[in-house]
Amino acid sequence: MKDNLLGLFADEIVEKLAAYGFEKYRGQQIAKWIYQQGVFDYERMTNIPNAKRQVLKNHFEINMPTLTAHQHSGDKKTSKFLLTFKDNASVETVLMKQPYGNSACVSTQVGCGMGCRFCASTLQGVKRNLTGGEILSQILYINSILAKERSAVNSIVIMGSGEPLANYDNVLRFIRLCHESYSLNMSYRNITLSTAGIVPGIEKLATEGIPINLAISLHAPTNAIRSSIMPINKQYDIASVIDAADRYAEKTGRRVTYEYTLIENINDSPDHAAMLAKLLKGRLASVNLIPVNSVPERGLLRPARDQILKFLHILQSLHIVVTLRKEMGADIQAACGQLRRKVIEKEESACLE
Ligand code: SAH
Repeated sequence: MKDNLLGLFADEIVEKLAAYGFEKYRGQQIAKWIYQQGVFDYERMTNIPNAKRQVLKNHFEINMPTLTAHQHSGDKKTSKFLLTFKDNASVETVLMKQPYGNSACVSTQVGCGMGCRFCASTLQGVKRNLTGGEILSQILYINSILAKERSAVNSIVIMGSGEPLANYDNVLRFIRLCHESYSLNMSYRNITLSTAGIVPGIEKLATEGIPINLAISLHAPTNAIRSSIMPINKQYDIASVIDAADRYAEKTGRRVTYEYTLIENINDSPDHAAMLAKLLKGRLASVNLIPVNSVPERGLLRPARDQILKFLHILQSLHIVVTLRKEMGADIQAACGQLRRKVIEKEESACLE
């Protein structure tokens, strides 16, 4: 079996190639072709001598996923791609063209093991972790599309399917690779990681010296409600998650974002808003309200517009920094895992026919 170079740091490429007599500087040359130029064919690596290209071809591959399905929103600003890896596992990756640049949302696991009631990614559990290279390949795929308009991904949200802190080492490799100057050269400030609230993972992340933005999926102001929609809360309750997030904010100086998915009759009342404000008062934190993308399988509904605005205004009046998520791509099932579910269901029903 050939070794895969996509996902390696330049010095790891150097190590792999040393046995074949490659000079040290070839590591960065090859990394630049793969990560910066999006060149996955050795024949196009023009600064590598022909004989060496043959060696690469014989012993190493560059594994990119293939496109299985895609959807584009009516306004063309949001595109969703279902990408499939060698073992046939597929994940969703989303490109959002924002006024401030191109934002990509990557998946970190095939499926998800968190069991959140409102989330489509978790309906069939977690199938496997993605490697750092597989996470990065999602960005490289989007960059290959953006290259046609002489553009590239400017910011990354680790908010696709999967729980990033349950796949810690691979996600850290991905983040570090994004930052390397021979790779995407991305500032840590342009990367946001969203977690369901795995406390030891948040604590470890705070020690890494990488000041990425942290987003916490809070979604409820009381443990009773949170446990009923997010099973992970039984392991790490609200107080312990907020405490870990506070320490993250203190260490990195970065404001923590609390995501709050509004679900009708579950967490959307004025009382809930007041309780949420009390929880976050005085913290280096902001709230991002997300009207739930209905998951028909789970019977959870989006509150009426008035109710959403009332919730927003209560938080504002209590001096909480709050934003209402712009609903990009609502017409293309932008909620986690919904495109993948649709394709899998189609395949399953095709099998039954
Ligand atoms: N596991 C991580 C990251 C993936 S989920 C986490 O829990 O944060 C990314 C965000 O989308 C989370 O805030 C999640 O709660 C939210 N989300 C999942 N399903 C949703 C839905 N149906 N509607 C709105 N937001 C949803």
